[in-house]
Amino acid sequence: MTTKRIPFVAGNWKMFKTIAEARQLVSEMIPGLQAVKGVEKVLCPPYTSLLAVKALLEGTDIGCGAQNMHWESSGAFTGEISPNMVAELCQYVIIGHSERRTYFGETDETVNRKIKAALINGLIPIMCIGETLQENEAGLTKQVLEKQITGGLVEVVLPKANQTGKVNLIIAYEPVWAIGTGKAATSTGADSVIGDIIRPAVAKIFGDEVAQSMQILYGGSVKASNAQEFFAQPNIDGALVGGASLKVEEFVPIVQAAGN
Ligand code: PEP
Repeated sequence: MTTKRIPFVAGNWKMFKTIAEARQLVSEMIPGLQAVKGVEKVLCPPYTSLLAVKALLEGTDIGCGAQNMHWESSGAFTGEISPNMVAELCQYVIIGHSERRTYFGETDETVNRKIKAALINGLIPIMCIGETLQENEAGLTKQVLEKQITGGLVEVVLPKANQTGKVNLIIAYEPVWAIGTGKAATSTGADSVIGDIIRPAVAKIFGDEVAQSMQILYGGSVKASNAQEFFAQPNIDGALVGGASLKVEEFVPIVQAAGN
């Protein structure tokens, strides 16, 4: 039996906001976000603000996520944060964002290790995949996404779904050419990539039921003015939002659009 997919919106703050700025932004966002029911909402600030943000979100229905983590649980890995450290503060973790793949050498293999470690530690990974402009123009989108999905999910065992049937793994389709460029994919284009490529690739690994129950997001220049269009598509279950998640007047309407 497949499960109804609940709309999901996460804000990826990237490397923005000091602790004081984060506190202010979250305080301003909470009333607007809390007013929207039936949408899973998650904020992913930088590590340094996680504790402060978690404290402010206490008692709300807004979740918290990290933007990355290491796969080892402890060790001599200067500058890294372990999955169990993340799990002390968050329910979610973004894995394999294209900025990490491009600037920090993240590969499908490291993504795979991180996904497994996140799941073992009770975190819900938001696994990012997406093709570059060059790959897109060369007609390689399907090939690239399938490779990222199979490589990232090798030997991944999903925890047993809880009573709600929610799958504890989220995929964000983020075409690299759409991230931070202001040039979003078309809603129908993103919908068919998810429906024709991503869900079938997930079904091959985990079966149809999981593929149909999994929340799959679009990310790339989502803003208040285009969110509704994306969320109206049958295969798009929400969004991973970068730049617009740093502005109350953008992020709250995006979440409202997901609830409509
Ligand atoms: C992102 O960082 O995941 C993202 C989609 O960024 P933006 O919304 O700014 O394109």
